[in-house]
Amino acid sequence: MGSTSPIALPALKTNPKFIFFTDFDGTITQQDSNDFITDNLGFGPALRKKGNEDTLFGRRHFRDTFEEMMDSINVPYDQCIAALLQNITLDEGFKEFFVWARENNVPIVVLSGGMEPIIRALLTHLLGKEDAATLQIVSNNVAPRPGKSINEAGGWKIVFHDDSGFGHDKSLEIRPYATLPEEKRPILFYAGDGVSDLSAAKETDLLFAKAGRDLVTYCEKEDVPFTTFNDFSDILSTVKLIVSGKLSVKEAATGRSGAVHARANDTTNSVP
Ligand SMILES: [Mg+2]
Repeated sequence: MGSTSPIALPALKTNPKFIFFTDFDGTITQQDSNDFITDNLGFGPALRKKGNEDTLFGRRHFRDTFEEMMDSINVPYDQCIAALLQNITLDEGFKEFFVWARENNVPIVVLSGGMEPIIRALLTHLLGKEDAATLQIVSNNVAPRPGKSINEAGGWKIVFHDDSGFGHDKSLEIRPYATLPEEKRPILFYAGDGVSDLSAAKETDLLFAKAGRDLVTYCEKEDVPFTTFNDFSDILSTVKLIVSGKLSVKEAATGRSGAVHARANDTTNSVP
C-alpha cells in the first residue's frame, strides 16, 4: 500500500480527525462561475443545461460537455475573471464555517471541475488573500492556444486534471485518505451541488448535496446516502454535532428531508 507521507496526503499534515472536501462552484459560491461565463460570454444557458442533463443521465461524459461550454467562450481570460469578480458571491455561511474549521483542525480541500486561476482569484476576492492561500485546491487548469496568450480573444482552453471522463476525477484525491488503515483514517465529508461532483459522491462518509440541485437527483437515482444543505450554516450545524460525538455520519444521512438541520438547530432536543 502507498505511504502516508504529508506530500502524498497534504490534508493529514495536522493529524486531523475529520477532513472536509468540497466542490467550489455553486457550493462555496452562490453561483457557478463556469455557468456564468458560459451563459453570458459563451453559447448560453439552453445548450449548457442540455449538456448537464446529458451528463447527469449518463449519456455523455462531463469532460466533453464541459469542454464544449468552455470552447464556446471567445472572451480573453482576464476579462472572464473581471466579470466573475463582479458577479460571484460567497455562500452566506462559508466564512463562519471556514473560521470554525480552522480553529477545530478540520482541513478544507477544494476539489473543483473549474480552472485554478479563476478559483484562486475568486477566493482571494471573497475571503481575503491570506485566508484564501491556506486552502488546498485540486482542479482543472487553463492554457494558451498555440501561438496565443490566454488574455487575447480565442486565446485559452481548459486543461483537464486527468484522463478520466470526468476531466477531474475527484475520487483520485479522496480515495488515498479513504483507504488509510482504520486507526489513521479521518472521517471524510464532501459537499457539492452538481454534475462535476458525480465522481466524488460515493467516496466519503457523509455527502452534503445542495438542496434542489442536480446532485440530489443523482444521489437518489444511484442510491447514494446524503443529506441536503441550503448554505454552509446547515453544514456547520451538522458537522459540529458529528465532531462532538452527538451524531453519527449514518444518522446524519437523512436524504432530502433535512431532519438533521431541524435537530441541530433545536438546542432543547438532545440528539440520540
Ligand atoms: Mg458545483
